[in-house]
Amino acid sequence: MRLRQKRTRSSPSTELQGNVLMVTIPYEPLIDFVAAIFDRAGSSAAEAERIGRYLVTANLTGHDSHGVIRVPVYMRWLRNGDIVPDRTVQLLVDTPSLAVIDGCFGYGQTVGPQAVAIGIEKCKAAGLAAITLRNSGHIGRIGDWAEMAAAEGLVSIYFVTAAGSILVAPYGGVDRRLSTAPYCVGIPRGNGRPPIVLDFATSMVAEGKALVASRGGKKLPKGALIGPDGTLSEDPTLLYGPYEAQGPRDHSKGLGAIRAFGEHKGSGLALICELLGGALTGNGATSAPRRFANGMFAIFIDPARIDVGEFFDGEISRYVDFFKASRPAAGHDEVLVPGEPEARLRAERMANGVPLPDDTWAAITATARDVGISEDLITRVTA
Ligand code: NAD
Repeated sequence: MRLRQKRTRSSPSTELQGNVLMVTIPYEPLIDFVAAIFDRAGSSAAEAERIGRYLVTANLTGHDSHGVIRVPVYMRWLRNGDIVPDRTVQLLVDTPSLAVIDGCFGYGQTVGPQAVAIGIEKCKAAGLAAITLRNSGHIGRIGDWAEMAAAEGLVSIYFVTAAGSILVAPYGGVDRRLSTAPYCVGIPRGNGRPPIVLDFATSMVAEGKALVASRGGKKLPKGALIGPDGTLSEDPTLLYGPYEAQGPRDHSKGLGAIRAFGEHKGSGLALICELLGGALTGNGATSAPRRFANGMFAIFIDPARIDVGEFFDGEISRYVDFFKASRPAAGHDEVLVPGEPEARLRAERMANGVPLPDDTWAAITATARDVGISEDLITRVTA
């Protein structure tokens, strides 16, 4: 990531959006502020900066549910001993094309890139490589890892479990059995064009979206949740149980579940993510209660070694143009390829700042105070 090459022109501001007060903060001071929190909480300066950078990148790309909103959660995991600062991954199996890696419950922003770097290095040498990662702290937005591989010219594919977080009902079922188990594929493109990055949770919505809806923000899509009697619903209390408007949300309290996306097909893909990301890796698939750990199975492919006729990149361009030239359907301005929405929003938010609901910002500043960040620094980031 090269976030720091572009200077931010925006300044902090607040604005009412619907009934939610939004605080907009330029991305570079936000990275520094999050880094200061983790620095005070026992991470090395390098790790603290990485956590800040990856969390803010999730906000920049529009995946606010995986951005700085996670700061208080990470801090709770740290206090409980569920996450350990400054870990180095352990290699359990190491062949020319395969690495079995233990993340030792380090921050995902540390052990994630270490594991992906091993996969990239092996792939560059062998043309094709796979890694498994077990016992990783939250690895956030999986698209980060696809972008890291694409920057080296590699295709990559990821199957992930978020074991310890049990939220999703399988197709045809009512009870929670799955995590939001993300799946991701990245394809590099030549001539400096951004990669194609398909990156999504296999649930109809990420839990963060239910959280937002429960706080009066954007409503959930129709039928995103299922109640214990099998009724489809958009009511967040199915996930959290009854809650006070300003009170906490605990997804272990609800009787319902998020539905897997895409009916039997999405539910099947979620199962594969649990089995490859959870069972094959040794991480364990989703169950509760258990210590949170992301498990990830990733495959890296070097197109330069396959594409002897130098056909791939030109054919991607031809096909993407053909794909995007489909006439827009009602309610759509244009056809986009995966990765395009994130690239556009990233440019916009790098220029104009990261909008955060004021209660999210309040929870982050409360966490900052807990670790001893000064009022002066807190005031400066929003002043
Ligand atoms: P989402 O529903 O926003 O879908 C995102 C994907 O759809 C992207 O590839 C995007 O480019 C593409 N997309 C969006 N709009 C498009 C359009 N109009 N045309 C074409 N493509 C379009 O994502 P999500 O399911 O809410 O997941 C959000 C993030 O959460 C992801 O980055 C995922 O990796 C992450 N996640 C992480 C974990 C974890 O445990 N670490 C668990 C679940 C999800």
